[in-house]
Amino acid sequence: MNTKANIQIAPGSIIGPGSIIGPGSIIGPGSIIGIVGGGQLGRMTAVAAAELGYRVHVFTPEVDGPTEQVCAKAFVAAYDDEDAIKAFGESVDVITFEFENVPADTVKKLKAYAPVHPGWNCLAICQDRAKEKMFAADLGIETAPWTLVTSADALRDAMKTIGTPAILKTTTLGYDGKGQVRILSDTNPATAWAELGGDIGILEGFIDFDREISVITARRPSGAMATFDVVENRHKNGILDVTIAPANISTTLSEQARAIGQKLAEAMDMVGLLAVELFVTRDGRLVMNEMAPRPHNSGHWTQDGCTTSQYEQFVRAITGLPLGSTQRHADVVMKNLIGDEAKPWAKILANPDDKLHLYGKAEARAGRKMGHINRLHPKGSKPKGWVNFGDY
Ligand code: AMP
Repeated sequence: MNTKANIQIAPGSIIGPGSIIGPGSIIGPGSIIGIVGGGQLGRMTAVAAAELGYRVHVFTPEVDGPTEQVCAKAFVAAYDDEDAIKAFGESVDVITFEFENVPADTVKKLKAYAPVHPGWNCLAICQDRAKEKMFAADLGIETAPWTLVTSADALRDAMKTIGTPAILKTTTLGYDGKGQVRILSDTNPATAWAELGGDIGILEGFIDFDREISVITARRPSGAMATFDVVENRHKNGILDVTIAPANISTTLSEQARAIGQKLAEAMDMVGLLAVELFVTRDGRLVMNEMAPRPHNSGHWTQDGCTTSQYEQFVRAITGLPLGSTQRHADVVMKNLIGDEAKPWAKILANPDDKLHLYGKAEARAGRKMGHINRLHPKGSKPKGWVNFGDY
């Protein structure tokens, strides 16, 4: 049964299939949110949506994925399955993504059924490292030096212009350090090019950073924005390991990072969440690494550390509800549980300092995100033993 319902129509705005939500219009509680992508970000969004009285339908190729387990209805099919696009689109009141690498054609077709937030322009920019960097540069935001590379010979030339060390990255579909090859002065370009695979990439100069930080901004259709505290991220094997909230950086840097997040969200007319990853250089500059138009792993801490979590804020932004307070009531260390790290869940649960979140994934493959811990401590105090996960 199609239960599209409870839409409050503000004067002047029209809500219905194919329409755009105008400023002031709301897709109210009781409506159905469609999420494209079925992973843990969708799962935690669906739970937050439920807390505000929404139901979630998911469109994902994955059977029994983390989102499917907690949503009202799942459309399990390939992203180009026409029947599934139609059935999913007809069943929901607003559509969003927990995964940005969705084909353009799917997004265009979904627009015929319900408002899609964020829009295709945001996804298109964030799907492609080259577009992302050009977009940032146009706004005066610094990125690592980079150049497009389309062959082993071009890579050889790029190694001279960009210099080494550098990183060869795929332009699309890279995440968690996948689709990246380290390039040193003695790297054989042909071997590195073959290792990357595909016919296009970018060579990016290596930033000798002091630390990595990120900032998450929510933006409503009205243009109102709310930004969470800036956090520090530490990676292991190219995957986020720990997020420290707040980042131990100067107020000036933190303000600059927040301003960058808001500038980017505004410039792409984003409706939803925009996460921006930045390097802090040793001489105190901010260099943008990449962005994601959705909830972000480095925002998990907000579930237990803020008045409004990034997931609830995401739901509020795409439905046009007022944004919630991003106030942080504690300092938090978020530890990702990767592969076997979630196995000692019983021990973790027995520690009252640790708040465990699990994603319902059956198989703990190496490098797979299985859950996370939020460890809270009073604002301004030292975290307890967070570096040594060997406790478990
Ligand atoms: P990415 O998938 O681009 O976010 O890269 C994953 C991780 O690799 C980043 O979080 C950094 O730790 C590292 N990395 C990526 N690009 C660079 C760069 N240009 N310079 C230094 N480290 C980088």
